[in-house]
Amino acid sequence: MATGASGAIPFYRGRFAPSPSGPLHDGSLVAAMASYLDARAHGGKWLLRIEDIDTPRVVDGADHYIMQQLQTLGMHWDEPPVWQSERLSLYQAAFEQLKAGGHVYGCACTRRMLTGGPYPGTCRNGLGEGVQPRAWRLKVPPGRRSFIDRWQGPQSQDVATEVGDFILRRADGLWAYQFVVVVDDGLQEITDVVRGVDLLDSTARQQTLAELLGQVPPRVMHVPLIRDESGRKLSKQNHAPELDLSSPVRTLQRAWQALGFEPFPAADIDEFWRKAVPHWAARHGLGGAR
Ligand SMILES: [Zn+2]
Repeated sequence: MATGASGAIPFYRGRFAPSPSGPLHDGSLVAAMASYLDARAHGGKWLLRIEDIDTPRVVDGADHYIMQQLQTLGMHWDEPPVWQSERLSLYQAAFEQLKAGGHVYGCACTRRMLTGGPYPGTCRNGLGEGVQPRAWRLKVPPGRRSFIDRWQGPQSQDVATEVGDFILRRADGLWAYQFVVVVDDGLQEITDVVRGVDLLDSTARQQTLAELLGQVPPRVMHVPLIRDESGRKLSKQNHAPELDLSSPVRTLQRAWQALGFEPFPAADIDEFWRKAVPHWAARHGLGGAR
């Protein structure tokens, strides 16, 4: 079906997927805001997924804290949130599907044996007698992958030579981020991923996985990151302070300006979003769709 005269696509599903390792800060709000605006400007759905698969980094209660932060800023999700920790059987099923297709293999390499460059494929042709796999890797098909990023422009990467066969299940038994993201985006029928540019170089890997799982990879847009005075990405690891919710409009305006927009007067959060959505639509050629 062609896009309508308003520029709205008939089917849009976006998501924000924070990891509950601490409260949202100004940096994570920029990514959340961009994905929220894009969903609203398309007249689509905005979903919330809690990426709590990396259990050692999960902070108790951070998930509900993040949800409260989003609500305070007027960012409401359209379907019940999902927690990755409750979806382990879905990841296992997707893994079995790849395994049955001959797309995964066990790897017995220790961290010490790997130099940090692309994985050289040491275990690709099987392990020696009695050798137990530590991790499981994807057998990456050869070839260069090209795609258009809606913010960053044309991109291309040869996953097989630049990254190598990457890990789906880690030596500690946890599913890898790259794998669960793709399984979830597929099952939740996500059409559009909008996130920070630090994840741009994950995209080709995720598209490779999506296709092997029989999915159509979502469109992508990678937005700029906020950096601190020393040029580092604002992150929980760098002890970025949590969002200041004493003045929600001011906090929203700061993220808005980080996305390259001019500030505008807004008396409250409702007015902020009412005015911000058409700005976003105009900037991204969505014809003023609401
Ligand atoms: Zn290996």
